[in-house]
Amino acid sequence: MKNTSESGTASTVLGYPRIGPNRELKRATESFWAGRIDASALHEVAAGLRRDSWTGLRDAGLGQVPGNTFSFYDHVLDTALAVGAVPARFADVRDPLERLFAMARGRPGAPACEMTKWFDTNYHYLVPEVGPRTRLAPGSRKALEEFREAQRCGVLTRPVLVGPVTLLLLSKPAEDAPEGFRPLDLLGPLVEVYRDLLTELADAGVDWVQLDEPAFAADRTAEEIAALRKAYDRLASAPRRPRILVASYFGELGPALPALASTAVEGLALDLVAGKADLDGIESVEGIERKVVLAGVVDGRNVWRTDLDAALATAYGLVGVAGRVEVSTSCSLLHVPYDLAAETALPADVVDMLAFARQKVDEVVLLGRALHEGRAAVAAELDAAKAVHEQVAATSRRDETVRTRLADLGADHYRRSAGDVRAEVQRDALDLPEVPTTTIGSFPQTSQIRTDRAAHRGGEITDDEYVARMRREIERVVRLQEKIGLDVLVHGEPERNDMVQYFAENLDGFATTEFGWVQSYGSRCVRPPILHSEVSRPAPITLEWARYAQSLSSSYVKGMLTGPVTILAWSFVRDDQPLGDTARQVGLALRDEVVDLEAAGIRIIQVDEPALRELLPLHERDRQAYLDWAVDSFRMSVGGVADTTQIHTHLCYSEFGEVVGAIDGLDADVTTVEAARSRMEVLGDLGPGVPRGLGPGVYDVHSPEVPDTDELAGQLTEALRHIGSERLWANPDCGLKTRGEPETVEALTNLVTAARRVRETAQTTG
Ligand code: GLN
Ligand code: ZN
Repeated sequence: MKNTSESGTASTVLGYPRIGPNRELKRATESFWAGRIDASALHEVAAGLRRDSWTGLRDAGLGQVPGNTFSFYDHVLDTALAVGAVPARFADVRDPLERLFAMARGRPGAPACEMTKWFDTNYHYLVPEVGPRTRLAPGSRKALEEFREAQRCGVLTRPVLVGPVTLLLLSKPAEDAPEGFRPLDLLGPLVEVYRDLLTELADAGVDWVQLDEPAFAADRTAEEIAALRKAYDRLASAPRRPRILVASYFGELGPALPALASTAVEGLALDLVAGKADLDGIESVEGIERKVVLAGVVDGRNVWRTDLDAALATAYGLVGVAGRVEVSTSCSLLHVPYDLAAETALPADVVDMLAFARQKVDEVVLLGRALHEGRAAVAAELDAAKAVHEQVAATSRRDETVRTRLADLGADHYRRSAGDVRAEVQRDALDLPEVPTTTIGSFPQTSQIRTDRAAHRGGEITDDEYVARMRREIERVVRLQEKIGLDVLVHGEPERNDMVQYFAENLDGFATTEFGWVQSYGSRCVRPPILHSEVSRPAPITLEWARYAQSLSSSYVKGMLTGPVTILAWSFVRDDQPLGDTARQVGLALRDEVVDLEAAGIRIIQVDEPALRELLPLHERDRQAYLDWAVDSFRMSVGGVADTTQIHTHLCYSEFGEVVGAIDGLDADVTTVEAARSRMEVLGDLGPGVPRGLGPGVYDVHSPEVPDTDELAGQLTEALRHIGSERLWANPDCGLKTRGEPETVEALTNLVTAARRVRETAQTTG
């Protein structure tokens, strides 16, 4: 069925995954980077993926298919390139593809653009850099070219771009921007560029364009909301332009809703999963009666099957209020896996709970039909879906043992002394040098390791053989670190496919998928586990590996765990109970592991929480409650050990300002953070705020450049301007598993030399 109303956009989705159902784009891109294929071969793979996605969505019955949702790396970068926001250090790279990858990954003499979390998701975008000298002008014609390409495939698409206001709100001032410059100052000229782009699109036959303004699902100042209104007034007044759909997601628009409704844009897409509050009083929002409203009732971010009747009721609520109502996903489907049908190993009762991107498209199509043709037209499909949904809802997921243990633990589950007391105790007990060197945990994952893990998984090698091979790798990595001269060692995490998946596979309450890949950044994909029931630890997980690694060396080898917040952040989580309740269950399961590690003689235990900031609610009013349970579940996990055991935590890619209180609240003895890309700026926040050991990452592990000793010593010296040498640790900014071995050895050798040099200087000067 084809829904082609004159004024409407018809049922649609706000975006679709782009890495390929079998990660074809990842493979092709990485082959291109490695020089194994040329640009035309890469373009060919990309074109095939785009074609399959456009025609697939059309054939599924979507009334309107989104366009320009493909990306070689990141859609924010694509939009920056579309408006000419190219940092000066890349201006001389002429080839468009080369320039794109240079901005994403850096090149000699030109560090990559900073990367950070896309709102509260696990997707990362590249931060645009703009300043008064940025020559804003229509740049890449990607949206236009892909529109034409889709046309040649017989599909009329709705090109999607990041909207101008969000683009600037996500940008940072260019290096050469004067003090006090704010990216939003460029909104006027930027909107003119968008007007030009819109005209070009209209001339090419584009009917609707989608401009994403998710920044307005977060708290915004009155000034920013006024800027939004002004921008869309101006865009809407373009003499030749497509109809404009402004999409917001990840929360409610709040005061931005009346602002947008007052403009002459034709459509608004509302997230009615995370932002249902926008429905309160929407009937009195002036201008809404003239808009096409896309009711985002199918959750684009989670994997649960939609309660179709509830979703339909929500959409019905807008009928008579909006000019026209259409059904959509709450946000782009970029954040969920392609297709549930690809999974062969999930338990049937878990399958019944789930819908991936392809299934969500079907849900949207079905809901769109119910809305426009009446429920009766699709009653059979809706009733069948309802029966499955009711059966899932009726199955109890409670585990009384877990609940009782949690209740009995009480408020004093954290029994450690004050930080300075522990620092004193640990100084004596551990006897570490000043500015100790360490790494974040993983070592390069060689293809041999991956082959061994796969062979074990596939039953081609026995458990014993697998353990023997992993032990050999652990021994190799321990010896390597001893040779390099690192002070605190790691076992290298060879047995882990992924820091969350590994724990999910070993804890009760989770399911893992075979093909459920989701883009994390660039060519990197993750396979988030599905946390569907109560969580507990049936048996020790890391204990034997840790015990073995420690037995090899007289240096400390860190025990290495992933923290409760990160496990939640990088999994698909239950939406039938508060997240904090789920987090505490995970914290309790990890506590069992931490206590076992300590009993086995592991003196330093690291519980990684790289995702602490990622889950931070977009609205200020929700933050304290989140931080409270985040801190509580972390402390629950580490709270069972003695003061002599040193607890580390690691956080990466975060703007720490907003969570500095929580980082302090975690009360780890040592915190390692990402700092290299932002050139130690984070120390301004963290130095005074977190009064314990601190390891600001001194080099960027995501860049293939090997840092030299001078550079590293410089970073450490810079760090010493903020904190004393008794608190400073020297380490890379994240795990090393994606790096090659020779560069890793070189970088770590330089790190050890730099730390020794700084140590000597610190001793002679003070
Ligand atoms: N311990 C993990 C590793 O080194 C931490 C990774 C992360 O912070 N994302 O791989
Ligand atoms: Zn990290």
